[in-house]
Amino acid sequence: MYRTHTCGELRIADVNKEVVLSGWVQKIRDLGSVIFIDLRDRYGITQLYFDNVLNPDIMDLARKLGREYVLRIKGTVRERESKNPNIPTGDIEVVVKELEILNESEVPPFTIEENTDGGEEILMKYRYLDLRRPNLQRALLLRYEMAKEIRNYLDSQRFVEIETPFLIKSTPEGARDFIVPSRLYRGSFYALPQSPQLFKQLLMVAGYDRYFQIVKCFRDEDFRADRQPEFTQIDCELSFVTQDDIINIFEGLAKHLFKKIKGIEFNEAFPRIPYSEAIEKYGTDKPDLRFDLVINDLTKQLQGYGFKVFDAAEYIGGIKVESKADTYSRKKIDQLTDFVKRPQVGAKGLAWIKYNADGSIKSSIDKFYTEEVLRNVLSDINAQPNDIVFIISGPKQQSLKALGELRLEIARSLGLIDENIYKPLWVVDFPMFEWDEEDQRYKAMHHPFTSPKEQDIDLLDTDPGKVRANAYDFVINGVEIGGGSIRIHKRDVQEKVFEALGLSKEEAQEKFGFLLEAFKYGAPPHGGIAFGFDRWVAIFNGSKSIKDVIAFPKNSAGRDLMLDAPSPVSPGQLEELGIEIKPDTE
Ligand code: ASP
Repeated sequence: MYRTHTCGELRIADVNKEVVLSGWVQKIRDLGSVIFIDLRDRYGITQLYFDNVLNPDIMDLARKLGREYVLRIKGTVRERESKNPNIPTGDIEVVVKELEILNESEVPPFTIEENTDGGEEILMKYRYLDLRRPNLQRALLLRYEMAKEIRNYLDSQRFVEIETPFLIKSTPEGARDFIVPSRLYRGSFYALPQSPQLFKQLLMVAGYDRYFQIVKCFRDEDFRADRQPEFTQIDCELSFVTQDDIINIFEGLAKHLFKKIKGIEFNEAFPRIPYSEAIEKYGTDKPDLRFDLVINDLTKQLQGYGFKVFDAAEYIGGIKVESKADTYSRKKIDQLTDFVKRPQVGAKGLAWIKYNADGSIKSSIDKFYTEEVLRNVLSDINAQPNDIVFIISGPKQQSLKALGELRLEIARSLGLIDENIYKPLWVVDFPMFEWDEEDQRYKAMHHPFTSPKEQDIDLLDTDPGKVRANAYDFVINGVEIGGGSIRIHKRDVQEKVFEALGLSKEEAQEKFGFLLEAFKYGAPPHGGIAFGFDRWVAIFNGSKSIKDVIAFPKNSAGRDLMLDAPSPVSPGQLEELGIEIKPDTE
């Protein structure tokens, strides 16, 4: 018998019990005549006690132990002399009578503790050791609990979990496909799903009514911080529902998770903000609502006074920071200016108006504006003494994006973000299409199966850029957690949208013929949503990176350092597939 208890279980009430424990050696303190060992398993840590008098015959063996040895011990629980209030088993220790080494261990390449000394490379190479650390164990258990509660909730709402295939034909979600060569059909390839989008729609045609799946998706994208080539979605689809029905059901899921996992009750409905409002107020379609700071349109107020930069700008926007004018020294403003000029932020410069505490005004643009004009700007946005306004101008979309970044940077640097609160919201009324400068054509903002708003259908032919979609995103603390849409279920509308996307009839037939075919046979009105499960777990876990909540993630260059993948395959395998590798031309 390996154990009567786990290493996290024994309490003062167990004193005098004879117990058997198994686990890993976390720590050894050899005081000569006395040895203390912390024995660890998934459930916790129990202190083992050995001494010359009580355990004379196993002291030698105990001295042979090293970190991460696997032991089985038998002993008696007793009350500790010096208690450790920081761990649940801290009142007791086990006086060991029998010691068996189940397996030895080499010295691990890093310390297996909450805060380790290992760098990312080594931690990933020895991920199974990293995964022994309590923080990672907590994260994966949280992930499991969340998955369980998701299933509980969706089950209560009559969803059924149905698996869809991984070896498929491309499903467009705006990324590149991973492709898998076929041995039996030389020169042909499967694609790994970017999402089960088309299958879940076909399941609606098939009458399953409410589907979900916690499922792996694969996207061959360029590596960006915190992207994984494979990730997990909570993928859902429903029939005979409106956008509001879907939002209500999944707001219910979010509230269920907040309550069960975080112990937080949301009594009010989450805000639902139209896309255009999110962009105008926060400069992003995933606003962080944990702090105020909104963008004000100052174009009218600041144009027509002869300041060339502003007069030529399509848009001028400002962010008012309350009660902080005195903290913005020249140097701090210069730093902020450098920030907005970074290529990722994209502004040309940063202007400012300081409303000093004594009521006077100072501004980087006071050469061009009378004090009266500046005072009018301040009063329009209700500025008070000791407020400061930061201003960015230029093309509208670009300036709003820069202001959105500036908003976050100001909040971060002033410590306005409370890491312990959650601000969920829905962003609704997304545009159907966005213009792709590079390809000079419209692309689907969500995906090509998203339905246009009924009242905008006529614009499909005349002004596609203005068409709004029945699409929605779910956002928590500035992170996009999910998104979905009411789908097109009519063949003619689907064909029209393909057309607006520049897809010829033949191309549409070639790529999505099976969907158009299915739509001939009584497709019900339907819609759905998918959530990024890894991101949601990361947010609940307080992790900056989704790697912390994935058991075996890839590194930021998309490699698995433990497996050393991707890696070449044997010439024989290539031969069978009829594949020849071109020499690297670079
Ligand atoms: N398939 C979409 C995605 O992966 C979500 C959806 O529309 O349901 O983003």
